[in-house]
Amino acid sequence: MSVLPPHPEDPLVREVTEFAKRHRLAERYREIDRNPAFPWAEYRALGKAGLLGLRTPVALGGRGASLREAGAALFHFAYRSGTVFGKLSLQPEFSSVLAAHGAPSVVDEWFRPMVRGERLVGNQITEPGAGSDALALKLGATRDAEGYVLTGEKSEVAMCMDAQAAIVYARLPGSDPRGGITAFLVPQDLPGVSRRPTSGDLGERWQRRGSVLYDHVKIPERYRIGDEGKAFEYLREELTQERALLAAIYLGAAYASWEETVAHVQQRLVFGRPLGRQEGVSFPLAQDLGRLSADWLYEEATLAGLESGGEGAEAAALAKWMAVEDGLRAIDHAIQFHGGRGYSQDLPHEQRWRDVRSGGIAHGSSEIMLVVAGHELRSRRRAVEEGGTNPG
Ligand SMILES: Cc1cc2nc3c(=O)[nH]c(=O)nc-3n(C[C@H](O)[C@H](O)[C@H](O)COP(=O)(O)OP(=O)(O)OC[C@H]3O[C@@H](n4cnc5c(N)ncnc54)[C@H](O)[C@@H]3O)c2cc1C
Repeated sequence: MSVLPPHPEDPLVREVTEFAKRHRLAERYREIDRNPAFPWAEYRALGKAGLLGLRTPVALGGRGASLREAGAALFHFAYRSGTVFGKLSLQPEFSSVLAAHGAPSVVDEWFRPMVRGERLVGNQITEPGAGSDALALKLGATRDAEGYVLTGEKSEVAMCMDAQAAIVYARLPGSDPRGGITAFLVPQDLPGVSRRPTSGDLGERWQRRGSVLYDHVKIPERYRIGDEGKAFEYLREELTQERALLAAIYLGAAYASWEETVAHVQQRLVFGRPLGRQEGVSFPLAQDLGRLSADWLYEEATLAGLESGGEGAEAAALAKWMAVEDGLRAIDHAIQFHGGRGYSQDLPHEQRWRDVRSGGIAHGSSEIMLVVAGHELRSRRRAVEEGGTNPG
């Protein structure tokens, strides 16, 4: 029984495969790394093809796909063409807080055009003093006659140089120091906004990350997203879904490297016989297939649990953690078993490794994924203690 690649017969997977071929996404993946720039042409084409916002409701212009369908489609984006295009496809999902809680006029102005590939909205949570501990953020929002005034700094943010607006998470004076965060939609061309790129990243270079300074930036009231102090409540559900879906992207990229390596070791002769006949090579590759397949089954169970209304934060955290860990190990084996060429930019493995490596930090680091999963362990222990039974 072959678990991977998943669901090649799905209509959405076929569309993704067809799109990837028509738009030469595998080649574009490599080019975007060498000349880092936001891939506007592909982003617009994805929007036109209805491949942005796979999970976004149809009423908002999205595809309204199930989590299982979206997960399989994202796997295939990455399997065909690295991490970039699946992540682009997820951009509207990364802004679901805006879609669900923004004023209708702001949703029409920013969210719907994003689903069409016409506008790009980033997310700004991290600050120099607040990353893993996001609730420590300090960027201030004070009220004035027309709305709010933002002052402070965001850092490490993706698409800092390209997004035309961002969902900015801020703190109102007097708000609860471990809560009370409010979100705003902030056009990045407002007076007082200045952006500075990082000096370059290990991978995912197209994201052109950087810092954004807000110097008394005036925001009209209608750009506040939802109620004051509620932003992190809104964000929680989005984070769970996006972590679960990101896992599919990391597994797709890793499986591509695994498959290419299996083909390589079958034909590469070393000491007079195919490299793949050496157990030092075939055992790690077999282990990788086992791990990636198991991770995919866990991924599908996680998506099914979320689809049926389960809370699923822990499962999503573990799915992402496993996909990054096992994906990186598989890609590292691909680099190793391709020898000298594996280490070079002639082959895609080193780029895939660098890009998947970002998954250990972005959208919640691997350690934070384990912290989230640890909450589940603690509540299970409590249940056993309170019930007085041993479920084993
Ligand atoms: C490619 C990429 C894209 C990103 N895009 C965005 C974006 O669009 N918007 C945005 O707001 N941010 C973005 N980030 C920032 C990212 O969310 C933060 O870098 C991340 O949350 C970690 O925060 P930090 O950098 O402040 O590290 P810190 O919080 O200082 O953590 C440093 C290390 O300590 C570990 N650590 C922290 N707490 C614990 C603990 N309790 N136990 C064990 N280990 C711990 C962390 O896992 C990490 O490895 C992006 C980052 C990357 C790499």
